[in-house]
Amino acid sequence: MSQRTLNFSSGPATLPEEVLRNAQTALLDLDGSGIGILEHSHRGKEFGRVLERTEALIREVGAIGDDYAVLFVTAGATHHFAMVPQNFLGVGQTADYCDTGVWSGKAIEEARRVGAVHVAGTSAPAYAATPRALTFSPAPRYVHYTSNETIYGTQWSAPPNAPAPLVCDASSDIFSRPLALANHGLVYAGAQKNLGPSGISLVIAKKDFIATGATDLPPLAQYRTYAAEASMHNTPNTFGIYIIGEVVAWIRAQGGLAAMAERNERKAKVVYDFLDQSKAWRGHAEPASRSRMNITFRGTTKELEATMLERAEARGLSGLKGHRSVGGLRASIYNAFPEEGVHRLVELLDEVEHGRA
Ligand code: PMP
Repeated sequence: MSQRTLNFSSGPATLPEEVLRNAQTALLDLDGSGIGILEHSHRGKEFGRVLERTEALIREVGAIGDDYAVLFVTAGATHHFAMVPQNFLGVGQTADYCDTGVWSGKAIEEARRVGAVHVAGTSAPAYAATPRALTFSPAPRYVHYTSNETIYGTQWSAPPNAPAPLVCDASSDIFSRPLALANHGLVYAGAQKNLGPSGISLVIAKKDFIATGATDLPPLAQYRTYAAEASMHNTPNTFGIYIIGEVVAWIRAQGGLAAMAERNERKAKVVYDFLDQSKAWRGHAEPASRSRMNITFRGTTKELEATMLERAEARGLSGLKGHRSVGGLRASIYNAFPEEGVHRLVELLDEVEHGRA
């Protein structure tokens, strides 16, 4: 393995090195076909095998039953902020949303363009925890939540209890722990954190929920089209689907989602334990809502933060600056982020705190 920069970016984010090496080979020659993955027709048998394998791996690793469809949509998660209400929020209906930060806020904004939205709970203004209590509208069409708020660094420990099908934006924690699909109508996730490249999203949706969607939208705006045509109504993002397959194969080889969860728990604990004892660094999220994927924290002074960011870059620790809306620092440590990296991070934080770096 080469010495790669430790990439704490929130997404696009670090990917397993084996996946990147396999992709290097596949760029020139996919499975001995003499044609690269970017060059194969999406209708040919070689890509057909890639699509089939990717879906099968996702179903196996995610323990996803036949009552759910596995779809690939050529767009990021933002696309679903509009597509979900367009499909499922009809005239005279209300959709309930949990407001836990920047990403759920954007989903709410898009849904409001389409129909009636009730905010069932909010963690504004600090967005340091998931809401303690939810109050639903009388008959919500669906209940939307963001399982992990990438910017504030909070995560639902379990899906909310809701009186309607759940719709989840799982962009920043998909496949970081076992899927809790029960009660979900639809889960969507942009791929660029735990699954692959940007510009493609994975959707796992209950078939009977998809069937209730609007029928008067353009075909590519209806989830049912993706389900009916195996995500091949038009040319899909063939390379994205290939990479997702490789990443999920890597997850399986690591021991699957239970093993991922254990490793992610361990990695996050190293950082949170450090922050909890530090006199100079302080975590943003409340302990019960702490994200295992994005750890947000601040220094007691701006100078300390600036020093840390400067030393980090010099030592090959990249992408630690917090999002502009929250400030401070953020360490994104998705599935593929190496365990060694969190130890290097706390070492440096400690050195900066004690004036040794
Ligand atoms: N939801 C969440 C939770 C995210 O973290 C992001 C991207 N960081 C998005 C949605 C938007 O994804 P995209 O840019 O792929 O549309």
